[in-house]
This record gives sequence, structure tokens and C-alpha cells, in this order.
Amino acid sequence: MDSELTRAWLLNAALLIEREKDRLTQLDLAIGDGDHGVNMQRGFSAVAAGLAEPPPAGTTAGQLLVTAGTTLVSTVGGASGPLFGGAFRALGKTLDTAAEPDDTRLLADGLNAARDSIQRMGAAQPGDKTMYDVYGPAAEAFGHALCDGAGPRAAARAAAEAADEGVRATEPMQARRGRASYLGLRSVGHQDPGAASAALIFQALATAME
Ligand code: ADP
Ligand code: MG
Ligand code: MG
Repeated sequence: MDSELTRAWLLNAALLIEREKDRLTQLDLAIGDGDHGVNMQRGFSAVAAGLAEPPPAGTTAGQLLVTAGTTLVSTVGGASGPLFGGAFRALGKTLDTAAEPDDTRLLADGLNAARDSIQRMGAAQPGDKTMYDVYGPAAEAFGHALCDGAGPRAAARAAAEAADEGVRATEPMQARRGRASYLGLRSVGHQDPGAASAALIFQALATAME
């Protein structure tokens, strides 16, 4: 993954979140405090502003992702800011430090690191109705597609499809982490807002790779 592709990914994500922010807020109004769309829009517009110009020659994909993650941590706020920001930082660090010559396999490792960062910070388990229910299946689908011989484009598409499926799967779940967990059984029957945002991020990656 080079810096040009990374920039395209993050700018795509910012566009999608801008377009979907009202839906994200509606989801958070149902089972949270109704700020998720605004939180994400604030964060990703700051990321996009930092990428308005192409980065200086020699900037790595990893550096861009770590910077984007740091920006998200400091601008998104709420529970989701540190989780999304930490995930991008973990991905970026993996891309810059891991000794994996195959670029697509390195991205698979990075997506696993992003998922693990969310799990470490938020302590969510699969089925807790959080963004982890998207990062888990999406990272896994990316890795499986590679094992099946897919190229980066098809793997990213498989991850985006698994992410969309992951959001839908949060609807019947009862929330066990974050603000929605205070609702107990009343959290059932709504998609998780952070999961919906995570799916947009994977959608943006697939689009950037096309
Ligand atoms: P807040 O709940 O503080 O207002 P947001 O509305 O921005 O923050 O984000 C809510 C989202 O954060 C949830 O929909 C969920 O996906 C995610 N989230 C909250 N707590 C956790 C956690 N412990 N682990 C993983 N994700 C979490
Ligand atoms: Mg909220
Ligand atoms: Mg809030």
C-alpha cells in the first residue's frame, strides 16, 4: 500500500462519512446520545484537511495512517475516537515496521493489528454490538481472500462485503459495551453506529483499490 492509495482511502472515507453523517447520528440517537455522525464528520474532515495537498515525496503509507489516527484521537471524541484513531495508528505502525515483503499480506497483518487494537482498548468481544463486529469479520475476510489466491482488489472487496454483513448482524444483538449497553434489551433491533462507520471505512478502502 503506497501513500497515494492511502490518501485516496482516507479522502474517500471522509466523503462517505460526510454523506452518511445524518444516518450515523440517527443510529446513535436510537441507542446512544446522538453525536456519532457529528463526531465522525469532525474527525474525518480534519483528516481530509491534512491531506488536501499530496504528501511530500518519501512520506510512507504508514506515516499517513499514524498521523490520521492521531488526528482522529484528538478530534472525534466520544468512545469511538480513541478506538478508530488507535486502529489507524496500529495499522500504520504495522505497515512501517513489519518484515513482510508481500505488500498485500502486510496490509492483511495491518488490518489484524487494527482489529486487535480495538479489542485491546475497548475489551469488546464478538457479538457485543460494537465496531469490533465489523473490524473482526472484515479483517478475517481480507486474510481469507488472500489465502484463496485473491489479489488486493478482490480482498478489499471481500472485506467491504464482510463489513456490510457485520453491520447488519449487529441489529439483533444486545449491546454489552459502550453507551448502548445501558439500554440493555432495548438496544436490540438497531444497528450499531460505530459498526456502521467502520463499514464505511472498509467501503472506502475497496473503492480506493478499484
Ligand atoms: P459516545 O458513545 O461516547 O457518544 P460515539 O457515539 O462516537 O461515542 O461512538 C459510539 C460507538 O463506539 C458505538 O456505536 C460502538 O461501535 C463504539 N464503542 C463504544 N464502546 C466500545 C468498546 N468498548 N469497544 C468497541 N467499540 C465501542
Ligand atoms: Mg454517541
Ligand atoms: Mg457522546
